[in-house]
Amino acid sequence: MAIKAKAIQLATRPTGAPTAADFVEIDFEIGSPRPGQLVVENVYLSVDPYMRELMHDGWELNAFLTGRVLARVLESADSTLRVGDWVSHRESWRTHALVDGADVRVLPGVDGLDVVQYLGLLGGTGLTAYVGLTRIARLQPGETVFISAAAGGVGSAAGQFARLLGANRIIGSTGSARKAEYLISELGFDAAFDYRNSDVSAQLAQVAPTGIDVYFDNVGSAHLEAAIDALRERGRIAFCGAVAQYNNLARPPCAPRNLFDLVEKSIRLEGFMVRDYYDVRDELEDFLVPHILAGRVQDVRTIVDGFDRMVEAFLGMLRGENLGKMIVRAGDDG
Ligand code: NAP
Repeated sequence: MAIKAKAIQLATRPTGAPTAADFVEIDFEIGSPRPGQLVVENVYLSVDPYMRELMHDGWELNAFLTGRVLARVLESADSTLRVGDWVSHRESWRTHALVDGADVRVLPGVDGLDVVQYLGLLGGTGLTAYVGLTRIARLQPGETVFISAAAGGVGSAAGQFARLLGANRIIGSTGSARKAEYLISELGFDAAFDYRNSDVSAQLAQVAPTGIDVYFDNVGSAHLEAAIDALRERGRIAFCGAVAQYNNLARPPCAPRNLFDLVEKSIRLEGFMVRDYYDVRDELEDFLVPHILAGRVQDVRTIVDGFDRMVEAFLGMLRGENLGKMIVRAGDDG
């Protein structure tokens, strides 16, 4: 029987900050699965900053959009998957999808773990934080780490992982005093500041008077410039993202103006894409699951209920309305 489904598509390409008028909701139907296919109900949908980049030229107009999603199998024509199984796939921004069994990842059920964590600490979010610290920055015990967008998904994971990996001092920047306080009181950061409050360089110098060893960059621009100022000799920058620039990729802000300091201080700056590190996933799970089960690390997330609120959640995440990973719950999570 055909399933009635809804999807959200991109209607126009925004310049500057996107608005709800850039999106359109459509109805469509999903037929029966062919051999090897599944009909799934999309339950947890991820909204991510990189999607703003895709609005420039990555996503087609008036076409299905992609993104990470956790889904339940409703109908299966794949002998290896049963109705009710949880899978992860990329046919997002819609309530239901027809997917090839070969293209999904079956989520391992671990007692004591909530499936939604496979979008958070145990998903791409946690993997990005772990790879950035261990493979890119190569964090050493006793070091001082500065993390921007620290109250977001990747940032809140990176701060907690840095502690578990032996960092001595962990500093975060975020977009409000309330979030800064949360980082210190709930997530164990040693210091945190509100970047909207005053100059980032001056605030960083105040909380890191003797400098930093590692900068985990989620923001770019003035944050990157401030971190280069604060980095000690042989410091490392894990360049993970530049959310301050995504609304205006063609004409980014002029910072950082101090790039030559990388030479003078022998600093290593390395960008990375988490998709090149899926082979680290098992290592992350071995490292993290015991810490999660023991309550030593929190999967921080903001859940927005209802598929119809997907655009609201996405725009809210870009404005910093999320604490931890922003997720839309579109269906019954059982
Ligand atoms: P997130 O941090 O949970 O959400 C985005 C956050 O960015 C917002 O909560 C907001 O928090 C902050 N923000 C928005 N505009 C800003 C601005 N102009 N200046 C400073 N902060 C701003 O998102 P996420 O999914 O965890 O991603 C964090 C970063 O990692 C992004 O840059 C993303 O592109 C990157 N990323 C990279 C990879 C990779 O493979 N390299 C993978 C995943 C994510 P405030 O309240 O603090 O402003």
